Amino acid sequence: MNSMVLKSFLGLRKSSPETSHFAVHQKHAAISFPQKLKVIAGKTSPKLQGRNLRVAIVGGGPAGGSAAETLAKGGIETFLIERKMDNCKPCGGAIPLCMVGEFDLPLDIIDRRVTKMKMISPSNVAVDIGRTLKSHEYIGMVRREVLDAYLRDRAKENGATIINGLFLKMDMPKDKNSPYVLHYSGYDGKTGGVGEKRTLEVDVVIGADGANSRVAKAIDAGDYEYAIAFQERIKIPDDKMVYYENLAEMYVGDDVSPDFYGWVFPKCDHVAVGTGTVTHKADIKKFQLATRKRAEDKINGGKIIRVEAHPIPEHPRPRRLSGRVALVGDAAGYVTKCSGEGIYFAAKSGRMCAEAIVEGSENGKRMVNEGDLRMYLEKWDKTYWPTYKVLDVLQKVFYRSNPAREAFVEMCADEYVQKMTFDSYLYKTVVPGNPLEDLKLAINTIGSLVRANAIRREMDKLNV
Ligand SMILES: Cc1cc2nc3c(=O)[nH]c(=O)nc-3n(C[C@H](O)[C@H](O)[C@H](O)COP(=O)(O)OP(=O)(O)OC[C@H]3O[C@@H](n4cnc5c(N)ncnc54)[C@H](O)[C@@H]3O)c2cc1C
Repeated sequence: MNSMVLKSFLGLRKSSPETSHFAVHQKHAAISFPQKLKVIAGKTSPKLQGRNLRVAIVGGGPAGGSAAETLAKGGIETFLIERKMDNCKPCGGAIPLCMVGEFDLPLDIIDRRVTKMKMISPSNVAVDIGRTLKSHEYIGMVRREVLDAYLRDRAKENGATIINGLFLKMDMPKDKNSPYVLHYSGYDGKTGGVGEKRTLEVDVVIGADGANSRVAKAIDAGDYEYAIAFQERIKIPDDKMVYYENLAEMYVGDDVSPDFYGWVFPKCDHVAVGTGTVTHKADIKKFQLATRKRAEDKINGGKIIRVEAHPIPEHPRPRRLSGRVALVGDAAGYVTKCSGEGIYFAAKSGRMCAEAIVEGSENGKRMVNEGDLRMYLEKWDKTYWPTYKVLDVLQKVFYRSNPAREAFVEMCADEYVQKMTFDSYLYKTVVPGNPLEDLKLAINTIGSLVRANAIRREMDKLNV
């Protein structure tokens, strides 16, 4: 692990956005839209006559729901198009504590409050990694059908119009002030379950339609590498559920995934067991079987009540903005590597994008342009680039072989590592380190990796 990464991991380094992965994409996009535009945008864009700015959000997951709420509160005429109102997004449903506070989530939509996490190595060495949590701290476990519906309902209470419809395509505006025309199949009560072709004219479009985003395709946003994640919801006997009451498990090893981890996350009356991979997608069912096998003694006698799979983006799309169209959440590619976390980042990016629109339009009174929307990207990249980069490198260093994974789990036993990683996860802030503990950790990490490499070399010699 190089020193830059170690320092970032420890929260010591604040990176410069100019050198970031995000910023590189941003530079490409900026070629055709000079920065100057941004500076004068809010002041010169025309005042709207007799109506407020109209924004359509495609997709009603955490990204779409939170964007809709912020827009509606900010005086924007807001439309949210969601194809399936009871959508059970395949997802582990783990959310950080800060999301509960920042998004004012009621506790009754959180199934479980996890205070104990077991990290389990390829040789089944289990390390408890919740020891440094304070009494009020926890990881929230939600079912997505509950969280997503809650956020959408709240947006509606604040004035957003929620449309049950499948977005199909959009016509681009003829000039900088004319509308985008969205085409969708409407499924609301009036059509009796059969889609009815409809159109909607708006000034701005937010693509919050997930990993297979049609909005991204419409603006030619480019592709990203993705993982495929597989999950089974398993109802286990009550006496077994007691074990998982406030405990989650993460399994690492070649058997459960060559480049990710397997998990057992507790939900209201069942556990979610899953795994993912980028490099060996065709073997995903084999990895799922292995994950189940590793947890066998704890989930024995369970009944599979739902099987689900979905892509997880690996990095941002080459382009996240074009004209008056912006991408947020998975549509933009905001899932962290290593942890596969995307719910908080989806909700947060939806909110940030909406805030930029509210600000740029002076609460819906003026037209906006690409420069106004770009404020969201700039803020996003500046705030989150270090987090993405560190987790990217951690994945490369520690998930590459079983000996490296053993070293990783060994490192997780260190209380200081636990505190730093939990604080970073729970609060999404850059945590200042303790120089002496950092030095000890650096020495231990290097020791673990040297041992891991030595073991790997020996195994290679033996052809194991
Ligand atoms: C198996 C698995 C486990 C995961 N576990 C976790 C975890 O534990 N914690 C975590 O933080 N992240 C996890 N993630 C990642 C997380 O699920 C995503 O990052 C998150 O859902 C992104 O939210 P979003 O709102 O951007 O998109 P989505 O949640 O995908 O929402 C998109 C919405 O758009 C709708 N939609 C799509 N196309 C259209 C269309 N054409 N017209 C109308 N509506 C449309 C969909 O119905 C959906 O409701 C996991 C992912 C997977 C696959």
